[in-house]
Amino acid sequence: MILIKTPEQIEAMRAAGRVSAKVLRKTGELIRPGISTLELDRFAENLIRLEGALPAFKGYGGFTGSICSSINNEIVHGIPSAEVILQEGDIISIDTGAIMDDWYGDNAATFAVGHIDEEAARLLEVTEQALWAGVEAAQIPGRVGDIGHAVQHVAEAAGFSVVREYVGHGIGRAMHEDPAVPNYGRKKSGVKLKAGMVLAIEPMVNAGGYRTQGPFEDGWIVYTADGSLSAHFELTVALSTEGPIVLTKE
Ligand code: MG
Repeated sequence: MILIKTPEQIEAMRAAGRVSAKVLRKTGELIRPGISTLELDRFAENLIRLEGALPAFKGYGGFTGSICSSINNEIVHGIPSAEVILQEGDIISIDTGAIMDDWYGDNAATFAVGHIDEEAARLLEVTEQALWAGVEAAQIPGRVGDIGHAVQHVAEAAGFSVVREYVGHGIGRAMHEDPAVPNYGRKKSGVKLKAGMVLAIEPMVNAGGYRTQGPFEDGWIVYTADGSLSAHFELTVALSTEGPIVLTKE
């Protein structure tokens, strides 16, 4: 069931979005060779609580982190760990979510660790462009397939592929609501977009093929099947007759 939010509820969601965005930015500023993903997680959790919010991911299905930290060929759901130390040339996707007054915010970005090679830099750039193409496509009237089509077009035109098995989602008083928001698809297909829908649009783009593998023993981390690099950018967006409104914004 798709839950339509009132303008007041969307205002309330801005608070959760603001915290999520601030935590993502500030955590991103700490990224450097030699830091562990657990240190990033500790910092993020402290900041979320300092802002009067709760970490949305901690305890979710037993997840131990307050952030997801996914390195190189890890697509999503990387588990923060003292053993995972960032290395020069890595890319790392950070996903942060906050709950404020029972409303959720969810956003992600992929960062360079020190100097990264040209292919990795292009992957980050294209994935962020694909996200914004998806946001711009979230118009009324329109359908959810317009978003996926826009994302897929940007990613594939650059020679990359979009992950199929994991998709964006509605968001509100739960982190995952209907509808599913695939990062691929046909224009004018799928659920009709309506004012008051709030969506987490989140392309996961692989440098190689779109197939995934895992999760394995840890139950969480999803990898590219071919070992290629993967990037992930996400925003929480409210739909309105005046166009999309990004809620994960400071
Ligand atoms: Mg999400």
